[in-house]
Parts: sequence; C-alpha cells; structure tokens
Amino acid sequence: MDPNQPLPKIPKIGLGTWKMDDNKVYEVVLKAIKLGYRYIDCAWEYENEIGVGKAIKEAIDKNIVKREDLFILTKLWNTYHRPDLVEVNIKDSLKKLNLTYIDLYLIHWPLAFKPGDDPYPRIDGHIQYDKVPLSATWKSMENLVQKNLTKYIGVSNFPSILLHDLIQSANIKPVVNQIESHLYLQQNDLINWCQKNNIIIQAYSPLGGNYDYGCTVKNKKFEHPLKNEKVTELAKKKNCSNSDIIFAWHKQRGNNYCIVSKSENDERLKRALDIMEGNVDINLTEEEMNLLSNEDKNLRLNDAAKVFWEIPSFE
Ligand code: NAP
Repeated sequence: MDPNQPLPKIPKIGLGTWKMDDNKVYEVVLKAIKLGYRYIDCAWEYENEIGVGKAIKEAIDKNIVKREDLFILTKLWNTYHRPDLVEVNIKDSLKKLNLTYIDLYLIHWPLAFKPGDDPYPRIDGHIQYDKVPLSATWKSMENLVQKNLTKYIGVSNFPSILLHDLIQSANIKPVVNQIESHLYLQQNDLINWCQKNNIIIQAYSPLGGNYDYGCTVKNKKFEHPLKNEKVTELAKKKNCSNSDIIFAWHKQRGNNYCIVSKSENDERLKRALDIMEGNVDINLTEEEMNLLSNEDKNLRLNDAAKVFWEIPSFE
C-alpha cells in the first residue's frame, strides 16, 4: 500500500439525499447543483438513485455543470458484501445514476447481511448475517478502482479499530470514513485518529438530523442541537442563526474534514454552502470553539446496528 496515496479533493459540504423519494430528490439535487453544490451524497439503500441520476443528466445537458466537476459518492449495501456481489451493487447504482463512474464508493456499514432481494433479511424478526470478513469485501472494492468503476474507495460507520485492521491487508487505503458527527456526538478521538492517518472525515447529520435511532431508546433526553443554549447565545452575539453557528463550528474543525447535510429549502441550502465555502465569514474564536466542544454528550442518533440489528457496533 502506498502510504502517500493521494486524497481526493472533496468540497467542504455535500448534499445529502437520504429520506427523499425519486421525485423530491430530482428537484432538490437539480436545485442544489444550480446553487453551486458539487458533491452529492447517495446510497443504493436510499432507493432514489434514479431521481439523482435524472437531475445530474439534466444539469449536464443544460451546461450547468460538467461531469468532471461533480463529486458523486454512493455506497455498497450490507446484502452485497460477498466478493462477487460488490461489482453487482456498484453496477446497479451506476445504471440508476446513469453514470459511467462513481467518484467515491463507500462500504455503508461494516456489517454483511445475507444476500437476496430483501435489503433487511430477517427470520423471526432477527437480521440474518452473512459470513463475509471485511477484508474480502475490501479486495473487491479495490478491484472496482482497477476497473475504473470508481475513482476512490472508503468506508462509513467504521470505528478506528476496524479501519486499523482493514488497512493491514489493504492495497488501496480507504480515503474516507463517513460518520455521524454533530454537537452532541462529536467523536473527536475517532476524527483525530483518521486525520492523523490521512483519512478524510465526512460528518453526517451535522446539524443533528431529524431522526433518532438511539437516544430515545436509551432513555436519554435528546434536545436538538439547533436549540442548544450555547448555540443560541453565540447566534445572538453574532447576529446570525443557530444553524449558521453550527456550520461555522464544523468549518473550523480542521483539514481532511467535510460535512454532508440535507435541506429541501433553497435559502438553507445556499446559506450552508456560503458558510462552508467561506463566502460568508462567521469566525468563532478558540474560546467559542471550546464552548461548543464542551457540549458533547455522546448522544448517538444512528445506532441502527444496536437498535434494529442486535449488534452494539459502537460499544
Ligand atoms: P442534517 O443536515 O443534520 O439534518 C437535516 C435536517 O435538518 C432536515 O430535516 C432539514 O430540513 C433540517 N435542516 C437543514 N438545514 C436547516 C437549517 N438551516 N435550519 C434548521 N433545520 C435545517 O443531516 P441528515 O439529513 O441527518 O444527514 C445528511 C446526509 O448524510 C443524509 O442525507 C445522507 O446523505 C447522509 N447520511 C449518511 C449516513 C450513513 O450511514 N453513512 C447516515 C445518515 C445520513 P429541511 O429539508 O426542511 O431543510
């Protein structure tokens, strides 16, 4: 493995596409590209890649953007971890997205489910796991790069210990770890470890999302980060909105760090892009950054593996 393997240039903010149907995602992706978004975050599991592909094609056909200026990311689903199925899954995504290559392909979760038509195979309510080690799936991910089906490969929802293990047998190093990270689940140790090891962090649910697959279940009270007292104080002081403060905090979290956020609203999309790209300056002092860092509560929203699949994967 080349320790100096080059990293992709990823825009500081990507558009999330989760929880939108084909029609909605088509509308939002096209709008976002027109506003200047270049990184679109997809997944086979979101079941809306056809809508994303339609928007990309229209944007290219209308000369709004060139394919090479876009950064398209999608993800391998858990039922396709067997070495012979990895290529099947990316090819299905490519067909739906109407593209010839992906910029970055991620292993969505470090968990292999039994292959088949059902993305969540269960017997008597229990998820059916498949006997596939991550190193075998990774070898097939590497083959996708050799075949020019994707430019880069990476992972998502990986704790450092699994990444460390994966790297030991890898020929191509994962360039990205996409993880949940927001005010209440900052994951500073994991982020520092990845940044030190030249792995880019993509923080998902950067505002705190609009779902909860964990906190309530653990009976932890979840007050949304957008309503946080310290965030509200800083927003008043700087005469801007609470979301502005959170985006500014993310922007200042260092190199090899970007976010993937979702909005269907034009103004919110534009404002987030402006802050993350530095067109609007909301500078937080070191003291203000620390004030927000102290709000970490280790509250995980996306504990899907523990809540739905009976593996406490982050413990
Ligand atoms: P988020 O950006 O933290 O939350 C989006 C929610 O915040 C939406 O309900 C949106 O509503 C609202 N919102 C956006 N801007 C706002 C603003 N300025 N003020 C107030 N509310 C605002 O992130 P997310 O949707 O949870 O995740 C983003 C993306 O990350 C997903 O779409 C997906 O692509 C990716 N993701 C990946 C994984 C993984 O396992 N790898 C897991 C989860 C998510 P409106 O649309 O109404 O503005």
